[in-house]
Amino acid sequence: MNRVYLSLGSNLSNPLYQLSSALNKIKKIQDSQLIIQSPLYYSLPYSPIKQPYFLNIAIAIDTSLESETLLDHIQYIEKEQGRVRQIERWGPRTLDIDIMLFGEKIINTPRLTVPHYDMNNRAFMLIPLLDIAPNLYLPNGKLLSEIIDSFDQNTMKSVMKSPFLT
Ligand code: AMP
Repeated sequence: MNRVYLSLGSNLSNPLYQLSSALNKIKKIQDSQLIIQSPLYYSLPYSPIKQPYFLNIAIAIDTSLESETLLDHIQYIEKEQGRVRQIERWGPRTLDIDIMLFGEKIINTPRLTVPHYDMNNRAFMLIPLLDIAPNLYLPNGKLLSEIIDSFDQNTMKSVMKSPFLT
């Protein structure tokens, strides 16, 4: 059994609906259990392309699935919810689900890089993660809260906890 942390984001086609629908599907993934979900956050697009703000959450699941089997489930959910893969890498998206951490594992396969290759720079991933795992150490030995403490003010301001929809 591994404790897995996922990041979910959406900025198209009713993002709140996209996230809650994805959560319902994640709850039904075989051999897996949703443990906790973060509050909802708004974030500014981490992108040079003009587009709406995102809604983001982080969740923890326990799973006995292999990492790539879990990725299959996640990609099926993304596809079902109409994500059209953009030519532009940083374009808007109906639903994006990323595996941030898979237990203590370090994974480098053609389909999967874990820990997520850029999570340490993404406040919209780490700030919700801190809500659900306040004492988490990353596989590189760093304390999650210390990485967040090192973010500059603009990065911190790019992510805001929703005052209403938690
Ligand atoms: P993106 O367009 O950013 O959602 O990237 C999707 C692609 O990233 C897929 O082809 C996945 O196989 C690959 N990928 C690599 N590492 C991860 C990860 N940690 N979580 C989700 N997808 C990943």
